[in-house]
Amino acid sequence: MASSTVVEVDIRGSLPKVASGKVRDLFAVDEQTLLFIASDRISAYDVVMENGIPGKGALLTQMSVYWFQYLKDHIPTLQTHFLSRSLPKALESLDRPLYEALESRSMQVKRLEIVPIESIVRGYITGSAWSEYKKSGTVHGIALPSGLVEGQKLPTPLWTPSTKAEAGEKDENISPQRAKVIIGDEKVAADVERLSLEIYLVAAARAEEAGIILADTKFEFGLDRANGNAVVLVDEVLTPDSSRFWPKDTWEAHLGKAQPSFDKQFLRDWLTSNGLKGKEGVTVPTDIVEQTAQKYKEACELLTGKKA
Ligand code: ATP
Ligand code: MG
Repeated sequence: MASSTVVEVDIRGSLPKVASGKVRDLFAVDEQTLLFIASDRISAYDVVMENGIPGKGALLTQMSVYWFQYLKDHIPTLQTHFLSRSLPKALESLDRPLYEALESRSMQVKRLEIVPIESIVRGYITGSAWSEYKKSGTVHGIALPSGLVEGQKLPTPLWTPSTKAEAGEKDENISPQRAKVIIGDEKVAADVERLSLEIYLVAAARAEEAGIILADTKFEFGLDRANGNAVVLVDEVLTPDSSRFWPKDTWEAHLGKAQPSFDKQFLRDWLTSNGLKGKEGVTVPTDIVEQTAQKYKEACELLTGKKA
């Protein structure tokens, strides 16, 4: 299992499964704790591909853990769901190769109630924001100056949330006002917005040192009811699945068109150019799998400064 591609996570029934997302499987360690396991599954346009990207789950875990630590060091008041990288006792009887393969892709996290929006921050205009701007001059309903080109840096980073769709549905871009209504609590909504922008700025500065532009990224937050309703950073963070990473040195030359990127844009482009965008049951060809794996690895190594 160590070197193979893990599409189905198998912990031999050691713990009860709480949920399966497009990429992760969540198991209950106890009432307060989850085992959060990243598979090698990859989704694009909200559809999961039939085959996975070897090494991806471990890379995403390594990057998230790096960022949780980095962000805590730079934003002392920030709370995150990260608890530990070790596996719980319940998995100790698994055979070594399986145990080690699981360990490389897992973290234990605080089990929380999830704030029901995707907290996106955009520093640059691209993707669905660019599509909306071309039509209406707005981004998530926010009016922007005219004359922006694709890939341009926004005057200031914007909090541009989306809905958190049920499995099989598509996330939908919404205005900050609408997100506040969905969240339903003014203080929580204000904390989510403020923390998202703060984390974006800290992370974008770190990425820039590594020669990477953090064009946009998506955060999720949890609510710690037992702890004064604290708003806690959860999920994965600042990975190529949740972010657009562009090489800084080629950005300017690509203004007004698509940017090369260290993330799943490459897979999205392959799907689109083959008429497979949004289609179920797609098997990604070996060369596209390999190139995607290479891009994820490069992002991980550049950002964390460690060999992946
Ligand atoms: P979906 O759940 O809609 O399929 P996804 O495909 O992005 O989203 P994954 O990344 O595969 O999901 O799985 C992670 C899931 O775990 C998400 O639903 C996320 O909201 C949830 N989650 C993240 N952190 C926590 C936490 N600390 N407590 C409870 N749930 C969490
Ligand atoms: Mg996710």
